[in-house]
Amino acid sequence: MNEKNIKFWLKRLGLGLVGILLITAINYYSTSSVKAQEVLRVGTEPAFPPFEMQAPDGKGFTGFDIDLFKAIGEEAGLEIQFQSMPFDGLIPALQSQNIDAAISGMTITAERVQTVDFARPYFQSGLAIAVRKESKNDIRGFDDLENKKVAVAIGTTGAQEAAKIPGVELSTFDNSALALQELSNGKVDAVVNDAPVTLYAIKVGNLNNIEVVGELLTEEYYGIAFPKGSPNVEIVNDALDELLKTDKYRAIYQKWFAGEPAKLPLVAPALQGEAAAFSIASMFPPLLNGALITIMLPPISIFFATSGGTLLATASISDFKPLGWLTRIYVDFFRGTPLLVQIFMIYFGLPSLLQGIGLDISFNRFSAAVTALSLNSAAYLAEIIRGGIQSIDQGQWEASQSMGMGWIQTMRHVIFPQAFRRMLPPLGNEFITMIKDTSLVAIIGFEELFRQGQLMVATTYRAFEIYAAVALIYLFLTFIASRIFSWLEKRLNPVRRASKKSSDRIASTQEQVAG
Ligand code: GLN
Repeated sequence: MNEKNIKFWLKRLGLGLVGILLITAINYYSTSSVKAQEVLRVGTEPAFPPFEMQAPDGKGFTGFDIDLFKAIGEEAGLEIQFQSMPFDGLIPALQSQNIDAAISGMTITAERVQTVDFARPYFQSGLAIAVRKESKNDIRGFDDLENKKVAVAIGTTGAQEAAKIPGVELSTFDNSALALQELSNGKVDAVVNDAPVTLYAIKVGNLNNIEVVGELLTEEYYGIAFPKGSPNVEIVNDALDELLKTDKYRAIYQKWFAGEPAKLPLVAPALQGEAAAFSIASMFPPLLNGALITIMLPPISIFFATSGGTLLATASISDFKPLGWLTRIYVDFFRGTPLLVQIFMIYFGLPSLLQGIGLDISFNRFSAAVTALSLNSAAYLAEIIRGGIQSIDQGQWEASQSMGMGWIQTMRHVIFPQAFRRMLPPLGNEFITMIKDTSLVAIIGFEELFRQGQLMVATTYRAFEIYAAVALIYLFLTFIASRIFSWLEKRLNPVRRASKKSSDRIASTQEQVAG
């Protein structure tokens, strides 16, 4: 290396070091400001009205919990910064110190106390059963839920309680709003959820076909959660004491609820119980069950998507222009909108639209998942197939026609076999993408691989180990798929086939000669 070269690399090294120093400094100052506790990052799941929901103007959040924490912040001289996240992600986020506190109508339970610290109880609540009005005579209480279909929100006390019903068929959703929607759409018989939230949804939401039946199933107390050992517990406790003493708490309560607030204990009663047992081995049986469902989805969906995609591709290259326009609209729509939105539209939106016009059609989760994946993938496949076909030289059409072959014959014997080989790599990509996209159907409560992972994290709070195992299983599945596609590609490679044939021929000639 000459001197010039050394100087060049030293300069690069210097620049790199300065960059690293800058990033570390920025990081240090941004986190150290949090450590100084000027800003408290508070996690919440804002689909739990009237405790937390989006503000009507779409900016920030509102609700009882939000008002209460803002008042605590004022009392304690802390700046509060709310962060929205899934309910089952709150405790893992506290564990990893991504947030400093969580307020989300979270019940103080014996299991949670083993993983996070709670400030003193701030609200008395309880679980209630909600049913559709027409079934209120059949389901009057917990015992009538035996062998019924029940929807719950993931990682909640409602989910825990409902799991105790003998023979129950549970569907787990990301939040209670989705579970209640499921009940309203007629797909489950009941929802087990926090009473104030269900009552509020019935009162203000569009859920006038739902009613709460029976008595409260539990008595629960909500608490603000912190990472274990957090110094903020005391600060918040002092502020809460002050708010309770000075009637400020009462004013916030009466902004959201009628009547007088219940008297709150200093510690939540009934804090016995143990966290769910967890071992690396115990996480595999449920995950493998989920993986089995995950591997069923792509082949079925790819079958429908390929059929649809071939029709679309044929239509898009046809001489009849309107067909071309229609396929364009289809492709643009399904490629241009997120798959997640399409899944929601098909599962939640379509049945309520159809029921609105008097058609009692609803999808079960499997068919909704297959429909969404197939419709979406057909759009991509249509483009892959069209591209493949159009990439074959025009001269080949002309040559085939001059030999007297028709359109179908040309397509079948000349164009398609060559086009198919060119389509294989993008088809493989599409298949692998689909394996990963199946994780999106977890949102409709479909218990595939990712959902199984979420469900386990919701009870064991071992986010890292479980999601790492989930990722590894996906990796394994996509690896197998990619191997299968490379094998197919090799098999369909004419050069290799030709050379294999000729080497076979040489071998047999040699044998004959030797013989
Ligand atoms: N109170 C229930 C629980 O803690 C539900 C909370 C929620 O869904 N935000 O599990």
